[in-house]
Amino acid sequence: MKKVLLFLILLQSVSSNAQDVFHKTTKLMGSRFDLTVVAKDSTEGKKYIDTAIAEITRIEKLISSWDVNSQTSDINSNAGVKPVKVDKELFELIERSIAISNLTDGAFDISYASMDRIWKFDGSMAKMPSKDEITASVEKVGYKNILLDKINGTIFLKLKGMKIGFGAIGKGYAADKTKKLLMEMGVSAGIINASGDMNTWGKQPDGKEWTIAITNPMNKNIAFALLPLKQGAVVTSGDYEKYVMFNGVRYAHIINPKTGYPSQGIISVTVFAPSAELADALATSIFVMGKEVGLDRINQIPNVVCIVIDTEGHIHQSENIKINEKTN
Ligand code: ADP
Ligand code: MG
Repeated sequence: MKKVLLFLILLQSVSSNAQDVFHKTTKLMGSRFDLTVVAKDSTEGKKYIDTAIAEITRIEKLISSWDVNSQTSDINSNAGVKPVKVDKELFELIERSIAISNLTDGAFDISYASMDRIWKFDGSMAKMPSKDEITASVEKVGYKNILLDKINGTIFLKLKGMKIGFGAIGKGYAADKTKKLLMEMGVSAGIINASGDMNTWGKQPDGKEWTIAITNPMNKNIAFALLPLKQGAVVTSGDYEKYVMFNGVRYAHIINPKTGYPSQGIISVTVFAPSAELADALATSIFVMGKEVGLDRINQIPNVVCIVIDTEGHIHQSENIKINEKTN
């Protein structure tokens, strides 16, 4: 998935101010996280990495729709029943998610999640869901039925059977929050890579920018772009790992909230944006919007650029990005 698309080239070197690079790869939020920090020694490096893990674990407890004890599960189990009081942090994440739904004309919709009852990408699906099942499921989808009460700090899902999930934004959010926390602790540089939802800050100890290589999933050994990543985030979403096949057609894990069917036509989207949260949500949205509408929308958003690879392997870029494709 994302991790095969993007990898970091870390140029290790001995620095003048005796800073070094420390890494840890671990599983959090059901995904691979690669944590990198610059620190003066391994004790300090470990402290920073432990802080990052604790922060991501805390966020997971709040936003996971798998964890029955999370506030998100509480919202879901009270769908059509009653509003649920949640932490300000979760309330605001839902508010921002709805803003992205508005920005993408509903391509991005956290209430897509009721459909994870019929579309399962864990190998457990034996047959294609029927038209009726899809129609019934899509009726429960619609961000306009997520009701926010700012005064009381509550969230109410209007319809019974509605469900929200942060699969397309949660890892980006966790990467942003963790970066912020480490920066506040005085960590001079680092990378939070949440399975390809990546956020960097500072520079490598030798003064060079962090660099990312972007590969074409059709030919993973060839990097077609090597880009410096300054203060921002880059996220890649791919459809080549989480999918099911029925009658020779591949159905991937990003669902069009309007039709209830998985999106088609794109195999990979990379978005560069000021925050990983926005990049994450937009990458998913572009799959649903399709390459023309998706690129057009990205061209209208300041400080956001993207690279789209379609199912024929063609590479498309938004207007403000210029990548020289390497052919060998
Ligand atoms: P991953 O990093 O796991 O590949 P992505 O950022 O590509 O995730 O987002 C895909 C995930 O988002 C799906 O697995 C699902 O949980 C969720 N999702 C699917 N369709 C939508 C949608 N239209 N809007 C919001 N979230 C979605
Ligand atoms: Mg996403």
